[in-house]
Formats: sequence, structure tokens, C-alpha cells
Amino acid sequence: MEGGWMTKIPTGPYGVGLWKYIPRGWNTFARFLTFEVGDGSRIRFWDDVWCGRDPLREAFPELYRIARVKDGAVADFLNFRVVLCIGRYEEDKLIWKLSLDKGFQVKSFYNAICAPGFGSFLWKSIWKTKAPPRVAFFSWTVALGKILIAENLRHRGIILVNWCCMCKVAGESVDHLLLHCTYAKELWDMIFVLFGIHWVMPKSVMAMFDCWQGSLGSYQNTVIWRAVPHRVLWCLWRERNARTFEGCETSVVDLKLHFYRLLLDWLSVTGLFNFTNVIDLIDSCSF
Ligand SMILES: [Zn+2]
Repeated sequence: MEGGWMTKIPTGPYGVGLWKYIPRGWNTFARFLTFEVGDGSRIRFWDDVWCGRDPLREAFPELYRIARVKDGAVADFLNFRVVLCIGRYEEDKLIWKLSLDKGFQVKSFYNAICAPGFGSFLWKSIWKTKAPPRVAFFSWTVALGKILIAENLRHRGIILVNWCCMCKVAGESVDHLLLHCTYAKELWDMIFVLFGIHWVMPKSVMAMFDCWQGSLGSYQNTVIWRAVPHRVLWCLWRERNARTFEGCETSVVDLKLHFYRLLLDWLSVTGLFNFTNVIDLIDSCSF
């Protein structure tokens, strides 16, 4: 049981797809839950929100780090006197925070997950751009961490060396390969200098798309800005595959030129721009 309130997410090949899919929404659902302590036997001391606004593991990370028991229930940690004060013989309760007086309502849950800033960024940042559909689909796959890189293949039981063929010093994870690798960073830094933006790269691709919103002056500039991350991810992924499967390596300088040429091709087909060459595009981005 997941915290004593639902079954664990099934990972085996058996079972009905719909019911296997539903438990995967538990973490999202649980963000709107809090707990009312009864006998404390079903509430996880460190992981559930039962005291304050955050789980104790997040409120007191240093204490959690040195805790010897990290998966105990509230009742395992409280002494007898305190347990008496909170009601020893009552059961623990789940509380739906979005509607305290009416209990759980589908409507309140739906409104919460459709609110701006909650999961809607992928629609705007990925699908509502001028990137070609297959590239947007690739970006979507990347944001979900589903592309077939070494780390994910190892999780599937395939034995191979977890090695980044770009920088040749680190393991190959999605976020490293496409965001934090020194090779990838050269490309990202070039873009931020070009646009005159000070940027701290988030930890994950999904967080990067979440941050990559807003507009930059005119509508045309915003179109360019929103197409950029797709272009960068696509370039890096193709370069990674060329190195992995064909043994071909492109220098960072050549990759930057390649990036501009392909971005120019994308923008040309939108009919919004009249760039005749890469220099025109670079001039337009330097706003
Ligand atoms: Zn690397």
C-alpha cells in the first residue's frame, strides 16, 4: 500500500491498462490532500502532510537526513502521552484541501490541475509553437524523460556503458545530455548571449520548458524565442545519434552554424519572416 491509502503502482505485464494507469495519478492527487491524525497508524511521519503545510522531510531536511527510521508511521514516533492527546482510538482521516466543507469534488480537482502553472505549460511551450510536429513530439518525449538514452535502456535491463559521447566524462541521462553537458551548454550559452538573457538552467528539461514562456517584444520575436528550445534539443539529439551510431562528430562551431540554418528553415516556412540568410536571423534575434 502507498502510505496505507492506495495500492502500489503496478509494474508487471499483467493487469488491465486503465486500472494500471489510474494509480500513476496518485502523486498529483496527493498534492491536494492533508491528513487528520487519529491513531497515527496510517500516516507516514516524514512523507505525508499532517503537521504544517509541507511534509516533514521537506520542512526539516537535515533532521530527515540523519533519521534512522525514514518510513515509519506517526504512531511509531509519538510517545504514549502525546498519542493520548491526539485521540488514540480514532482512525486517521484524509482531508481534501480544496473543499474542506464538502469533501472531495471532481470539479475542484479538475479546476486545480487546469489552472495556469499546473501542468499546462507543456501544451503552450511544446505544442503551441512553430516547431514541426515530429520535433514537437520529440520535445514532448524528452520532457517526459522517455527517449532511449543509456540511462533509460539500463533501466530496461539492457547492459551497456552509461557514457556521454558528447563530453566523454559523465553518464548519459536526459537532463545531462540535453541541458548540462559541456557540449550542450555551449549551444545554450550562445543562445542566451544572442538574446541578451541571463538564464540559470533548471535541473530538468520539463522545468526548462516550464520556464521558457512569456513573450519577447513583438509577435515575431516571440515566435523565434519559443522555437529555440525545440531546435536545440533536436540538434543535440541528432548529433548524439550521429556519434553513437555512425561514429561522426561535429565540432561545437559547426553545430552552432547547423542550428542557425535549421532554425532559419523552420521560420521560413511559417510565412512570418523574410530572412534571406543566417545573418538576418541573428540580427533579428539581437533585440
Ligand atoms: Zn556530457
